[in-house]
Amino acid sequence: MADDLFADAEMFGFETRAIRAGQRHDPTSGAVVTPISLATTFVQEEPGVHRGYEYSRTNNPTRQALQECLASLEGAAHGLAFASGMSAEDTLLRTLLPGDHIVLGNDAYGGTFRLISAVLAPMGFAWTATDLTDPDALRAAMRPETKIVWAETPTNPLLTVVDIAAIAEIVHEGDARLVVDNTFATPYLQQSLSHGADVVVHSTTKYCGGHSDVVGGFLATNDTELSDRLAYLQNAIGAVGSPFDNYLTLRGLKTLAVRMDRHCENARAAVELLQGHDKVTHVLYPGLSDHPGHDAAVRQMKDFGGMVSFRVAGGADAALRLTTTTQVFSLAESLGAVESLIEHPGVMTHASAAGSELEVPADLVRLSVGIESTQDILDDLGQALDRL
Ligand code: PLP
Repeated sequence: MADDLFADAEMFGFETRAIRAGQRHDPTSGAVVTPISLATTFVQEEPGVHRGYEYSRTNNPTRQALQECLASLEGAAHGLAFASGMSAEDTLLRTLLPGDHIVLGNDAYGGTFRLISAVLAPMGFAWTATDLTDPDALRAAMRPETKIVWAETPTNPLLTVVDIAAIAEIVHEGDARLVVDNTFATPYLQQSLSHGADVVVHSTTKYCGGHSDVVGGFLATNDTELSDRLAYLQNAIGAVGSPFDNYLTLRGLKTLAVRMDRHCENARAAVELLQGHDKVTHVLYPGLSDHPGHDAAVRQMKDFGGMVSFRVAGGADAALRLTTTTQVFSLAESLGAVESLIEHPGVMTHASAAGSELEVPADLVRLSVGIESTQDILDDLGQALDRL
């Protein structure tokens, strides 16, 4: 079918594949939009002879379209979609066995930390959190039984940048796979497999969906054996999103490139304002030339993203107060959608890391800079900071 052309990563640009890859015109109606296939079961010509679909948990046409599209954007041979970022992570971690060891970044997303330290560890999995920007620290953390090194870049919420190619080399000295959570960067800004990652993880709830209206997760890899195992686990565990969820994520991907350009532009403007304000003590943004990961970010990212964190004078009290005095920025968890959001990671998204080595500073505020009018974003931030 001519539509299959769009699955070819070499032939078409990112923006074209974001709109077309994996999405075949409906053969009966010619509909240009992938249908939401609600059927739970699919007719078979003879027992075991079917068109690739048997039961919707195992495979579903809407999910298949999403899987092909996002895999193409990541430059991956294989992609698997899940009900949430956490269920994608859980399914991937179930390729390990008790006794295996996981290394994760010491400012990993709180939910990843909770899954590994509070759900898997009591079942016999070992883990070490370390500074993945320090090659010696990574080497020291790795053990013969290390099976996964779990990196995020940029990280949530400290926006630390990990040099993917540099750590891939170290990880591959052993018998481990490098997993990169690409949620903040998106495939538009960073294609981690091309820098040496073995698996890419997404919370598609964020930029991929892009409109704060669908929870989802994704795994992408070029490793066929691993992908087969993941597809087995995807079916065996069943943590898959509904066809409507998959449709919304697929629709979100179509505008990912234009949204990301605008997120980056507005984030740059917000960073400039924050840097010039006397109530702000430190701005964390990989686009800043004095950011410790700036050089790595320039090498591996097309632009620096829409997430900005900063620390305020006046400690936790001031940070908490600030989050309640914005209007364009809604006080809410999550990130990566068209509307601007503000949050206090210590009390909100990263509360599960309190008291651990992954605890975040109490004076930290995180912004997910949306795609609204730049001036409205600047006016809102400016008035809130002035009131501190
Ligand atoms: N990874 C990162 C970097 C995240 O920020 C999140 C959620 O905030 C997740 C994974 C988990 O994804 P979900 O909330 O879709 O389960």
